Amino acid sequence: MNIPFVPTDPSNYYSGRGGNSIKYIVMHYTANDGDTDEGNAHYFQGAGRRASAHYFVDEDSVTQSVRDNDAAWHCGGALESSHHPLRGICMNRNSLGVEMCSDIVSGKYTITPQTVDRAVELVKYLMAKYGIDVDHVVRHYDVTGKLCPEPWVRDESLWRKFKARLTAPVELEPKKEDDEVVEKKKVLLNGKTYECECICKDETNYIKMRSLKQAGFTVSYDAVRKLPAITAPQCRTFVPDGTPDVQAAIDTVQEVVGLEEQTIEYLLRYQYGEQLVKKLAKAMEK
Ligand SMILES: [Zn+2]
Repeated sequence: MNIPFVPTDPSNYYSGRGGNSIKYIVMHYTANDGDTDEGNAHYFQGAGRRASAHYFVDEDSVTQSVRDNDAAWHCGGALESSHHPLRGICMNRNSLGVEMCSDIVSGKYTITPQTVDRAVELVKYLMAKYGIDVDHVVRHYDVTGKLCPEPWVRDESLWRKFKARLTAPVELEPKKEDDEVVEKKKVLLNGKTYECECICKDETNYIKMRSLKQAGFTVSYDAVRKLPAITAPQCRTFVPDGTPDVQAAIDTVQEVVGLEEQTIEYLLRYQYGEQLVKKLAKAMEK
């Protein structure tokens, strides 16, 4: 991991660990709204902050503020609730402190999924570096009872998910297309039915036609014909689906003469186009 080191002022931590090794990683949140790792590191360059952390994490990066070999002041202090199973066991002297930046969303503290992703990366890296198992990755809450990280105290399932990700096997490459079946489906293009190659995955239809969107098509759903519809705003002359007998005639003409779809449309746009196509089909059937 590429982690810049922006050292905090020496007045904000203990130099060294007093002979202790690193046994715990303690997770925190900053209780700010939209802060960054860079901003926090900058703030802690100042003297007399009376607190510190080894790492600050936001959505796109991590900054180190205290060297791993020094003891940051992140999980000491007074008890704040009756939950403190690791009091006196996990301490500043034998732990690393990781602060996650936070946001306030709908009046509640939130650690965004991207910040959690960065935290997973960082903590997995530190676990490997110092031989720390997942049971020694803890919340500030578990040490002093402080509601920190508050979103992971309020909703324990988020904390469990985070822990589960720390031990999950290395994420596999994104799945290849072997579980994706390409099937031909009918789609209305400019009001006309076409067979398109589609992939239905996770209950979502995908059409292999990225260029359509780039060409200004809009994608919607025709509730009457119960088909997805792709429409160009600068739509050329609208040629709707014909009646079944017209469609049958179109099929015949296309089969026998192999006319392009556009040519058929051209014929249909002619005032008596439908009759013409029917006549052609009849002549071909003889
Ligand atoms: Zn904390």
